Amino acid sequence: PQHVEATSSSHPRGLYLLFATEMWERFSYYGMRAVLVLFLTDAMLMDKAFASKFYGGYTSLIYLTPLIGAYISDRYWGNRRSILTGGLLMALGQFILFASASNYGPATTHPLSHWLLYLGLGAMIVGNGFFKPNISSMVGSLYTPGDKRKDAAYTIFYLGINLGSLIGNTITSTVGDTGHPSDFRWAFLACGIAMTLGTLVFNWGKTKYLHTPQGQQVGTTPAHSTTVKGLFALLPVLLVLVLGILYLDSTKVSVIAPLLGLAVVGIAFMVFTDKSLSAADLQGVLVIFVVSFFVVFFWAAFEQAPASLTFFAKDNMDRTIFGHELPPSLFQNLNAFFVVTGAPLMALLWTALGKRGLEPPSPVKMALGLALLALGYLVMCFGVKGLQPGVKVSMFFLVALYFFHSYGELCLSPIGLSLVNKLAPVKFASLLMGVWFLANAGANYLAGYMSSLYPDPQSNAPAPVLLGYQITNLYDFFMVFVVSAAVAAAILLTISGKLVKIMNAREAEAA
Ligand code: GLN
Repeated sequence: PQHVEATSSSHPRGLYLLFATEMWERFSYYGMRAVLVLFLTDAMLMDKAFASKFYGGYTSLIYLTPLIGAYISDRYWGNRRSILTGGLLMALGQFILFASASNYGPATTHPLSHWLLYLGLGAMIVGNGFFKPNISSMVGSLYTPGDKRKDAAYTIFYLGINLGSLIGNTITSTVGDTGHPSDFRWAFLACGIAMTLGTLVFNWGKTKYLHTPQGQQVGTTPAHSTTVKGLFALLPVLLVLVLGILYLDSTKVSVIAPLLGLAVVGIAFMVFTDKSLSAADLQGVLVIFVVSFFVVFFWAAFEQAPASLTFFAKDNMDRTIFGHELPPSLFQNLNAFFVVTGAPLMALLWTALGKRGLEPPSPVKMALGLALLALGYLVMCFGVKGLQPGVKVSMFFLVALYFFHSYGELCLSPIGLSLVNKLAPVKFASLLMGVWFLANAGANYLAGYMSSLYPDPQSNAPAPVLLGYQITNLYDFFMVFVVSAAVAAAILLTISGKLVKIMNAREAEAA
C-alpha cells in the first residue's frame, strides 16, 4: 500500500528519485558531449569544420527523437517502460563509444572505430528519445493539477540536471581530456557507468515512490495497450533510420534540416486545421510557435560551448592556473556551476520584483535572456580584438561569457517550458512540447554549422563566408553571435506586448 504524503509543503519522495535518475543521465549526456568534439578532432583526426557539423547533427537528432518517444509512451508504453528502455539504450551507446575509442594506438582511425562511433551515438539518440520527454513529464504528474509546488519542483529538477552535468563534465574532462587521445575512452566508460547507475536507481525506486498524492501509481503502461512487446521490434528499425540520417548528413547530403522543416510544417498543419480548437486556442498556439522561433537564436549561440568555444579554450586561451594547465573541455563546467549557484538568486530576484508588481512577463524575460547572451559574446569580442597570431587570451573572457550565458539561460529556459505548458490546448500538450524540442533540434543543427565557420589558424582552407560576410578572425566570428542575439532580443521585446496580451486572455479564459 502507498502512504499518502503527510505534509503539503515538502515535496514527494518521488521527485528526488526523478532528480537522481536525471542527474545520472545528464552526467552521461553532458559528460560525453564535453569531450566529444575533441575526441573527433584529436583521436578520430577529423578537421574542426567536419567535427563541428557532426556534433550539430548528433545533438539535433537528440532533440528530434523525443517526438517519437513521447508518442509511443502516451499511447503504448507509459513513462516507466520508456525511461528504462531509453536508459539501457543510452548506457549501451556509451559502452559502444568506449569500444570505439579503445586500443587503436595514438589515433583512432580504424574503420571499425568509425562504425562503432556511429552505432554508439545512434543508440544514444534513440534512447534519449524515450528517456527525456518522459522523465520531464513525470515530474509534473507526481502532483495534483494546480498544485502550487509544481514550479518549485521543476526548479529542483533543473538543479539535478545541472548537478549531473557538473559532476559528469568534471570527471570526463579529468580522465578523458588529458592530451593523450587514447584516454578519451575513459570518459565514455565513466558515462556508461553513470547511465547504468541512473537506470538501476530508477528501477529500484519506481514502484515505491512514483505515485500521486492519493497513492495512485504514475507512469505505468496503459491498461488498454496490447502492442507493448511488439513495439520492441521498432527499436532496431529506429536505430537503422537514425544511423542512416546521421551518416548521410555527415557526408554532405543535407537530410536533417529538411526533416526538421517537415516536422514543423506537419505539426503546424495538424494543430491549425483541427476543428475542435477555438480561435483563442489557436492564438495561444501561435505564441508557442513565435517564441520557439526566437529561442533558436539563443540555443544556436549557446551550444557553441562544446564546439567552437572549446576550440577557443584549447588553441587560443591561456589555461594555466597556479602553474597547472587545465583541460580545455573543463571550462564548459562553468555553465552548470553558474546555473546551480544562480538559480536561487534568480528565484529571489523574481519574487522580490513580483512583490512590487514588477516581475517581467515571460516574453520579456526571454528577450532579456537573449540580450545577456549577446553581452557574453560582446565581452569575448573585447578579448580577441586585434589578436596577434600565437598570442593567447586570458581565461577571464571565457569565464565572463559563461557567466552571462548562464544567467541568460536562467531567464529563458525554465520559463519557456512552463509557457508552452500553459498555452498548449490539452489535446496537443505533448505535441506542442515537441515544438519546443524541435526548436532545440534546429538550434543545435545550426550550432554545429556555425561552429564549422570557426576561423582555424591551423587550416589552410579559405576563410569561411557567412551571408557574404567573410570570417577572417575570432572577432568577426564572435561578432556574428552578438549581432544575431541582439537583433532577436530587440524584435522579441518589440512584439512582447502583443504576445503578453494573448497570454493574459488565455489565462483569464482558463481561470
Ligand atoms: N540544460 C537543460 C537540459 O539539459 C536544457 C537544455 C535545452 O533545452 N537545450 O535539460
